[in-house]
Amino acid sequence: MFRRLSTRISTLYTVLFLAVFAPAVLLVYLVILGEVKTTIRDELAANGGVFDRLLDARADQLKQSADVLSRDFGFREALATRDRATVESALMNLTGRIGGTRALVVGPDGDVIADASGVSDGGFPYPDILRDAEDTGATAEVAVLDGVPQLIVASPVFAPTLQGWTVFAEPLADGAARELAGLAPIALRAQFQADGMAGVMHGIPNSRALRLLNDRTALAEFVGERGGELVLIKSLDVSDSSPPVTLSLNYPIAASLARYRHLAAAVIGFALAGMGALMTGSWLLSAGVTRPIRALADAVARIQAGDYVQVEAKGGGEEVRGLADGFNAMVEGINSRERRITHLALHDPDTGLANRAALQRHLTDMIEGAAPGPGERIYLAAAGVDRFATIRAAIGHGQAGVLMREVARKLEGLRPGDFVARLSSSALGVAFRAPDAAAAAAIVAQARTAFERDPIAIGSNAVDIHLTVGLAGCPEHAENALQLVERAQIALDQARAATAGAASFDPESERATAGNLALLSELRRGLELGEVALAHQPKLDLRKGEVTGVECLLRWIHPVRGPVAPDAFIPLAEETGLIGALTEWVLARALDDQRRYAKAGHDLRIAVNISARSLANPGFADLVASLLRSRNVEPERLTLEITETAAMERPDVAFATLEKLQRLGVILSIDDYGTGLSSLAYLKRLPVHELKIDKSFVLNLSKDKNDAVLVRSTIDLGHNLGLKVVAEGVEDQASLELLALFGCDYAQGFHIGRPTTQDAVIKSLASPEPMRLRPRRAAS
Ligand code: C2E
Ligand code: CA
Ligand code: CA
Repeated sequence: MFRRLSTRISTLYTVLFLAVFAPAVLLVYLVILGEVKTTIRDELAANGGVFDRLLDARADQLKQSADVLSRDFGFREALATRDRATVESALMNLTGRIGGTRALVVGPDGDVIADASGVSDGGFPYPDILRDAEDTGATAEVAVLDGVPQLIVASPVFAPTLQGWTVFAEPLADGAARELAGLAPIALRAQFQADGMAGVMHGIPNSRALRLLNDRTALAEFVGERGGELVLIKSLDVSDSSPPVTLSLNYPIAASLARYRHLAAAVIGFALAGMGALMTGSWLLSAGVTRPIRALADAVARIQAGDYVQVEAKGGGEEVRGLADGFNAMVEGINSRERRITHLALHDPDTGLANRAALQRHLTDMIEGAAPGPGERIYLAAAGVDRFATIRAAIGHGQAGVLMREVARKLEGLRPGDFVARLSSSALGVAFRAPDAAAAAAIVAQARTAFERDPIAIGSNAVDIHLTVGLAGCPEHAENALQLVERAQIALDQARAATAGAASFDPESERATAGNLALLSELRRGLELGEVALAHQPKLDLRKGEVTGVECLLRWIHPVRGPVAPDAFIPLAEETGLIGALTEWVLARALDDQRRYAKAGHDLRIAVNISARSLANPGFADLVASLLRSRNVEPERLTLEITETAAMERPDVAFATLEKLQRLGVILSIDDYGTGLSSLAYLKRLPVHELKIDKSFVLNLSKDKNDAVLVRSTIDLGHNLGLKVVAEGVEDQASLELLALFGCDYAQGFHIGRPTTQDAVIKSLASPEPMRLRPRRAAS
């Protein structure tokens, strides 16, 4: 209950009010009470004196009456003659006159002779009163008679000698006291006590009571308080032989206070009205303060829940308005900061395009919002910009960002509504819907052609953009957004590896990669344990008709898996850097093998495959030079086969390496020519000596007219550039003859010889019928 500020404030005010007002009321009460008590005390004291005088007056009255009787002749006669009947009738007469007071006659011997009430007989208990009366005339004295404090009046009867006494006895309570109560201005109650002081003292504080008891003289008069009454206790003068008698006058204080009832009612009424007004006022005030505070607290709770509300400081004072303004500014600040953070979290800082996280979020929404059953499916195309590194090197990093943004804009323009995000530095992701995989593939194909048609303008440059696209779909390839993104990227890698323009995600090859890591560590070990070896494949010189060189091909004989194809482990070794050691091993071994050929009488050229990684290594040329020196092999005996894509990765470094190797005198050969995208202009700039037409063009050479045209024009092209031309993948005699016809310089293939051991090659070279296969032209 006290947790609410408004309750606390109004309670505090009320308590403060009571704290100030209650003592004031109490003080007034105490002053009034003191005043009232003083008044009563004075009144009681005055009344005590009045009582004495009333008692004296009554005593005088009774003394007179007694005297009158005592002097009455008939009465004296009757008493002297002991005429009891007359005496009694005279007494009765008198009793009627003096108002019910008991009258009796006591004989000279002290015995009661007659009693108007007919009660007593025997001796009169106060002979000293009788004696005083005999000496001084009528005497009045207070004494206890029959257990009741009474005013006793005695008058001697002489006839002429003492005949007895006329005695009146009147209970004090009936006479003077009653008269007193009638006279007093206040409602007095008088009480007489005959049984000692103990009874009177009842209720009087101990110390004073004791003092009063011990000192009878101090007991003249005492005023005290007992049970809500003020009491005056007065010791009465009694006959010496009587027990003491006290008079107590009681006056209830409440009766006096009653006069102040109106005042009290007014004060209490005033207090209640004041308190009510105060509580209402303070409640209203505090509600006015707490209402805006509560509004702020509500707003804070809503902001915690992510709802950025503004508060209105209605009714609050200037301070509250200031607080609300500050609060609103703070909320606005938090809100804009959060928007900025969210933007950063979901956008690529380079290009401002949506990033991978945003893509995943969008895909999740698409997947969750997709209707179950057949209908539209969700696809993600990972579109990689081909040769991005080269382009970036040419136009600079800043412009490369602009380029990616332009590519994204163009993709968005092709199919408005598709979601485009940046997946990696060179790839964009496009999320879209299509009825099935074929439709999705068609959309991808359309997009690729659209790019091929027109270049993208960056500043004043036009850049030719080719896209390689990996495609993955939900639900056929992925269950959720994360998987979809990963698989589209794997599909992109697969498309790039296959140098196909586009590819759908292939679960088979993904499964293969799972085993890759294990394979890699085994390769490292296999290299140390001598599980790798070189196979040699002869190269036939088509003009001379003899084998003048061999290509060294890596072989790995795994103790459990058996032979592992180089295509399976070389890309892995390239990715991890193990390729450096592997290449060095191959080079050293190949040069050793060259020495062995020479010793056997065949000074063959030896060719080694060099991967992009090695070419990008600035120390590679020096390594080759030192190996050549240490093995004492002529540089021109060594041919390095480099794929065109390898020469284009980090082109600046690759160029420098190639130039150094050329200066060294090593023969450089472009491997797999025709599969890459290199333009003639680009080839021209490479410092190479030889072109090796990819086997995919040669394998069907004798059956496929197109291939024949392609191979022939490539041979011419190579020659025009001043290069030697090699054809690999020659599997039949017809192809071999065609190549000779086209003027090709060298041929390599299963038809000439499969990759085999060096010993087998030496043996075939030494055979009396060296190469039974000879080109037709050479034969003719
Ligand atoms: P590559 O340089 O194009 O090597 C030629 C491949 O074609 C070899 O496969 C060879 O066995 C095969 N081949 C030769 N003649 C014919 C033929 O008439 N028909 C057919 N169908 N195939 C033929 P291999 O030995 O499996 O090598 C595959 C690839 O592995 C090589 O392609 C080369 O790129 C790479 N490679 C091999 N050894 C090394 C190496 O020591 N270092 C590097 N970096 N790569 C290597
Ligand atoms: Ca090769
Ligand atoms: Ca090749």
